[in-house]
Amino acid sequence: MKHLIRKEFLEEGYVFATAAAEIARRAGHTRPARLASNENPYPPSPKAIRAATDVLPHVNRYPDEKNQAFTRALKERHGDYHFVASVGMDGIIDTVLRTLISDGDRVAVATPTYSYYGLAVQAQGGETVSVPRKEDFSVDPALFCRDAAGTKMAFLCTPNNPTGTTETVETIAAICENYEGILFLDCAYIEFDETDYRPLMKKYENLIIGRTMSKAYSLAGLRVGYAFVPKWYEPYYHRAATPFTLNMVSQAAATAALEDTEHVERIVSMVREWRGRFMDECPYPVVPGGANYVMVDVAPKKADDIVPELAQKGVIVRSCASFPGLPDHYIRVSIGEPWENEAFLKVIREIYQS
Ligand SMILES: *Cc1c(COP(=O)(O)O)cnc(C)c1O
Repeated sequence: MKHLIRKEFLEEGYVFATAAAEIARRAGHTRPARLASNENPYPPSPKAIRAATDVLPHVNRYPDEKNQAFTRALKERHGDYHFVASVGMDGIIDTVLRTLISDGDRVAVATPTYSYYGLAVQAQGGETVSVPRKEDFSVDPALFCRDAAGTKMAFLCTPNNPTGTTETVETIAAICENYEGILFLDCAYIEFDETDYRPLMKKYENLIIGRTMSKAYSLAGLRVGYAFVPKWYEPYYHRAATPFTLNMVSQAAATAALEDTEHVERIVSMVREWRGRFMDECPYPVVPGGANYVMVDVAPKKADDIVPELAQKGVIVRSCASFPGLPDHYIRVSIGEPWENEAFLKVIREIYQS
C-alpha cells in the first residue's frame, strides 16, 4: 500500500536525538544530565498546573474555539496586537504554510537553522531555498533579500536554533522593508534575550512573529504556540486552521502561565546567569547567543565524536552535525538544572585536557 503515500513522506522525517541517551544508559548513568533538547528543566508555574487540573472535569465539551482567555492574557502581556494560537509553534508554522504555499512555491530559510521549516515546506509541496548566514551566523539583510528574491515566504529564527545568535531589530526592519514575501520570525527563545521585535508589528504588513509556551514557560508537553500576525492576515489564517486548535487543558494552563510573570522571570534570570558561566568557563569557544542553550565549537574534535564521549560520562548534548550548512565541529548544550550544568562543565574540561 506504500505506493499510495505522497512522495514527500517516503523519506525519514524529523530526527530526535536518542542515541546519546542510549549510550549514557548503557554506561550505567540512571540519571544523566539531559542537555540536548532545549527544554526547561523546571516544572511550569504552580498556577498553570492548578488551572489545568481544574478544567479536567469539563473536557467532555469542546474547548473555546476562539481561545478568548488566552488571547486576553496575551494582550495583557504584550499589548494590543493580533494573535493566533496553535498546537505548538510547529502548528502555527504548518497553518501559515497552508495559507501561502502550494505545489512548487518557494520558501527561503536562513541557514543553518531549525530543521522543521524544511520538512513543513516539503509537506506543503513547496521548495526550500537556503539562504546562507554569514560566518558569524548573523544575517545580512541586503544579502538575505537578494537571495530570497522571488520566494513567497521566509523563515528566520532569532535567537537562532542551534547557533543561539540574535538579529538586531534594525536587521529585521530592513528585511521587512525590502522583502516582498512574508517573513516568519521564529522567536521560540526570545524570552531569554532582551531584543524586542514586537513594535515592528505596528509598522510592517509582511511580518509574523512566532512564539511558544514550550521553552521559557515550561509547557512543552502541552503544545502551545502563538503568533503575532498582521490584522489583514488574521482571517485567512483562521480559514486554513483546524476548527479547534488549543485544547481546554492547554488553554487554561497557558493563560495562567502567562499571567505568572514572576515565575518566568525567575527562570529567565537563572538561564542568563548560567549562559554567562558557560561563556566564561567552557574551555572550548562558545558562540555568543541569547537562548537557553549555547553552541560550542569543539574543533579540532568532531561533534559526532565528542557527543558519545560526553554521554559515556553522563552528559547528553546535541551534535549539530546534522544541521545543513554547519561544519561538523559544533555541539549544542541546553542550560539545565545547576547540577546538570556543573556536570557539563566538569566533563567538558576533562575531555579538553585529555
Ligand atoms: C522548540 C522550537 C519550536 C517549536 O516549539 P513548539 O511550540 O514546541 O512547537 C519552534 N522553533 C524553534 C526554533 C524551536 O527550537
